[in-house]
Amino acid sequence: MIDFHCHVDLYPDPREVIRECVDRRMYVLSVTTTPTAWRQTAALANDDKRIRTALGLHPELASQRKHELELFDQLLPSSRYVGEIGLDGSSELRSGWNDQLLVFTHILASCGMAGGRILSIHSRRAVGAVLDALVEHPHAGTAVLHWYSGSSGDLKRAIELGCWFSVGPPMTSSERGRALVRQMPQERVLTETDGPFSTVGGRRAFPWDVNSAMSGLADIWGLANDEAEAQVLKNLRGLVSTNG
Ligand code: MN
Repeated sequence: MIDFHCHVDLYPDPREVIRECVDRRMYVLSVTTTPTAWRQTAALANDDKRIRTALGLHPELASQRKHELELFDQLLPSSRYVGEIGLDGSSELRSGWNDQLLVFTHILASCGMAGGRILSIHSRRAVGAVLDALVEHPHAGTAVLHWYSGSSGDLKRAIELGCWFSVGPPMTSSERGRALVRQMPQERVLTETDGPFSTVGGRRAFPWDVNSAMSGLADIWGLANDEAEAQVLKNLRGLVSTNG
């Protein structure tokens, strides 16, 4: 099982969540929302090889935390994975849009100078602007668009630009989400939960709830569950091996 985007540090008991993930031999990308949170969150993983911690600065926190870009740059050499980063065009975040752009483009430029990173990217209501920024920073690394919710046309452009996608239970359970997933190249799809910010069956999602996205993908792809799981694992191995 692979949860390529979850916020382990934001669960009430992160240690217990990690223990469960380790017991289940899960591959987890534990994303962070501020550079300040990175060290502590990385320490939770206890050097388990399957649990990686991404250095991030969430677009919702861009205005409040832009002063942490300096810390971001200091920590970047220590992390192969960057996220959660991105842009959010929701109306309530409009006033911080310029800060969002400043933070996101700074991070992409830093990643480019550092030789590229694997990026877990938020693009709610901002896919066009996210893709424009990626085009301007072609050496930033491999973009994995998490919880893609844009249009089919923007998805086509993202695919043409080489983006990957991490797909969670909310996507495989809605007709609109399923139509988007069908459009994604199978060899560029990973699974995620975005826990604890997503729900499964009306309760908070945990990383192992990625099972439900996995069976959704199997259904969409017309594969047996273990075949779909093998495909996603192969994708992950490919992604990691082509990025340093
Ligand atoms: Mn998230």
